[in-house]
Amino acid sequence: MSKNNCIFCKIANGEIPSSTLYEDEDFRVFLDLNPAARGHALLVPKKHFENLFELDDELCKKAMVLAKRLAGQMKEALDCDGFNLMQNNGETAGQTVFHFHLHLIPRYKGDMAGITWNQGKASPEELEELAALLRKK
Ligand code: AMP
Ligand code: ZN
Repeated sequence: MSKNNCIFCKIANGEIPSSTLYEDEDFRVFLDLNPAARGHALLVPKKHFENLFELDDELCKKAMVLAKRLAGQMKEALDCDGFNLMQNNGETAGQTVFHFHLHLIPRYKGDMAGITWNQGKASPEELEELAALLRKK
């Protein structure tokens, strides 16, 4: 179930070489070509899913368990000070490759990764109204 002209289908299935640090029947994990920090890796399913909304539930569970394990190993190997897991869905959210992937980003004191956002403000009433909306099925 790979998609024509999808770069991550090609990388995940070994048609395009990558600096792979882990592979099993479902996933490949390889180093990002444009790392936000030393050791920035991408965890990619071998099957094509465009984003989180499309991703198979079983693979979703496996992806998180694998990310947890690799994050632990990477933290030990790289002696980083922190760790971000990131996942973008849609152009507006910063997705540039439309094949589901998890970013595994080791963080170091003083690094320039700059993974942050501007904090907004919301009143308790606004939050309650929004929570009520989101609770609705
Ligand atoms: P996103 O913006 O969340 O879709 O992330 C896509 C990521 O894929 C970016 O961090 C890119 O640097 C990375 N990337 C794109 N092409 C390649 C490639 N051929 N090998 C490794 N990483 C890549
Ligand atoms: Zn793909």
